Amino acid sequence: MMNVSKCSKCLNVPDDILMLTCSHDLCLLCAAKSFSQQPSKRSKKVKHPLIIEQFFVCDICSSNTELDANSVYELEKLHLTTALQDRSNRKPASQSKSNITSEKQLKPRSQNRQENKENAKEKPIKYTAQTMEARVSVHQSQRNMSKQQSENSFIQNSRGMCIDHPEEEVSYYCFDCNSKCICPECIIHGIHKNHEVKTIKKSYPIVRKQLEDQLEQNNQCIIQVENQKQELEKKQIQQQAIQDHLRLQIAQEFQALHQLLNSKQSELLEKVDNQPTIMEQQDGYINRLNEVEFKLSNFNEKINDVIDSKDECGLLNYYGSIYGQPTPQIPPLPNIKEVQLSNQIFTQINDVKKLIGGLDIDCNQ
Ligand SMILES: [Zn+2]
Ligand SMILES: [Zn+2]
Ligand SMILES: [Zn+2]
Ligand SMILES: [Zn+2]
Repeated sequence: MMNVSKCSKCLNVPDDILMLTCSHDLCLLCAAKSFSQQPSKRSKKVKHPLIIEQFFVCDICSSNTELDANSVYELEKLHLTTALQDRSNRKPASQSKSNITSEKQLKPRSQNRQENKENAKEKPIKYTAQTMEARVSVHQSQRNMSKQQSENSFIQNSRGMCIDHPEEEVSYYCFDCNSKCICPECIIHGIHKNHEVKTIKKSYPIVRKQLEDQLEQNNQCIIQVENQKQELEKKQIQQQAIQDHLRLQIAQEFQALHQLLNSKQSELLEKVDNQPTIMEQQDGYINRLNEVEFKLSNFNEKINDVIDSKDECGLLNYYGSIYGQPTPQIPPLPNIKEVQLSNQIFTQINDVKKLIGGLDIDCNQ
């Protein structure tokens, strides 16, 4: 409790405080009193006819702070109850007494309050403050809020009635059960007897701190998640680049392979086409055979002419002229190269086919 706000007017340290945009703080009693003495000044910038906005004029610096309808209502009511209490103080009402005795059954809310109890004169004021405390809470975080929001100082009425004791207003929180807010009856006679309980006012900063820690934890977690997502996105981009490169490389390599196959196919087909045929190899030989055949035919013709002439002397002389002359001979058969069906090339092609069929990408290396 180091950063307690003091009332700028009475210098008390109250439980509830009205924070003004001018940075002055007022306890609710001073605020209610001051507000009752201010002429009713409606806000000029009323956004909606049903929303009544009023200004609170700071006693110290005269700055304006916009109040919402609920805060106006609470301040007016507090002023009214204080005024009534002041009057009945001279003749204390039984209602007031019973409230104070029931209060004594509870644990003291603060040391400050305990001291106040000893001062009998402050009892009526304390009673009204206590009543207000049950229903009014000022958001301490108001100044941390955005500037637009902080223009409106507000008091929030948020306490409901006990579920188990519908006639009692909740004012405690059980740290053993960590369930909903509970009433004093729950602690004295109910299921929260001997439990570790604290007033809503004291529980609020503790639980709020826990929620803020949770918030911090969640934010850390969100940062981690964001980092992991970023990391994964980075990896995703890298992987995409690798895959694109792989795809391009495979396409290029296979294009080269197709070209190699096509050119090899052409080369082999050309080689087959360029094998000399038997006819080509035999062309000269046939000419020579024809030549021999022609010479022999002429020779035979000459012999037949000589025989047909029946010239005895002529026949003998002819024989004498050709005797010893070489007769045309059949030329020897040339060496013809025959194309052999070699299976060697197909064995090799099959090996290549097996090799290509076994090609695979091993991404886990
Ligand atoms: Zn004050
Ligand atoms: Zn001020
Ligand atoms: Zn209860
Ligand atoms: Zn409990």
